[in-house]
Amino acid sequence: MIQMQGVYKTYRNGVTALNGLDIRIDQGEFVYIVGPSGAGKSTFTKLIYREEKPTTGTVIINDMNTSTLKQRRIPMLRRQIGVVYQDFRLLPTLTVYENVAFALEVIEEKPDNIRRRVMDVLDQVRLKNKARFLPDELSGGEQQRVSIARAIVNQPKVLIADEPTGNLDPDTSWEIMHILEEINEAGTTVLMATHSQEIVNTIRKRVIAIEDGMVVRDQSQGEYGYQM
Ligand code: ADP
Repeated sequence: MIQMQGVYKTYRNGVTALNGLDIRIDQGEFVYIVGPSGAGKSTFTKLIYREEKPTTGTVIINDMNTSTLKQRRIPMLRRQIGVVYQDFRLLPTLTVYENVAFALEVIEEKPDNIRRRVMDVLDQVRLKNKARFLPDELSGGEQQRVSIARAIVNQPKVLIADEPTGNLDPDTSWEIMHILEEINEAGTTVLMATHSQEIVNTIRKRVIAIEDGMVVRDQSQGEYGYQM
């Protein structure tokens, strides 16, 4: 569960990015985060990943308060959260298999488990047959599928996708959306920041609209709601 209460975030330069957020997201929800550029969407996701702490207010992720969480327990929090970026961020000299396995090697998972888990998630994103390819031998949509596989390989409770379809053509975007839906149906909370009106209005889910650091709309089965 993700809970924000009375959350304000002012950066050191004096910019207030979040201006009083009260949000509760239950385990297993699928939520679109929409809003214009500069609205505070990235700051919102950074608070969840504990890249930033709120200036005031509380952020609670699965019973952990990110403000009082000890430094040495931050990796434990982050292990519960997978992140997917618009620009994939794969390691260019590693194969598809190695890119995904790396996420488990750094947490010292047993080799047998690594092999099994990596092949399972590559199967899930339908890329088992490209395990030995390098990222630049893949299409954009395939690279994004690798980055999704990497994000879910240690079975996080929450998947944050920051404009995951931002660099992809429409057909490929739908493919990515169906994979995110499958991951969500298996119980993972999915938070997706997006500018795609078409996706939000077609695959109906909860919509949280942020403007000027405030929630201006929170609807289940919502719509995109305004023109960019
Ligand atoms: P969005 O993701 O919706 O575009 P952001 O959360 O990135 O919005 O930004 C919200 C506001 O906070 C913007 O005015 C932005 O310039 C500012 N901001 C974001 N990150 C920082 C930072 N690290 N330091 C200072 N200001 C920042």
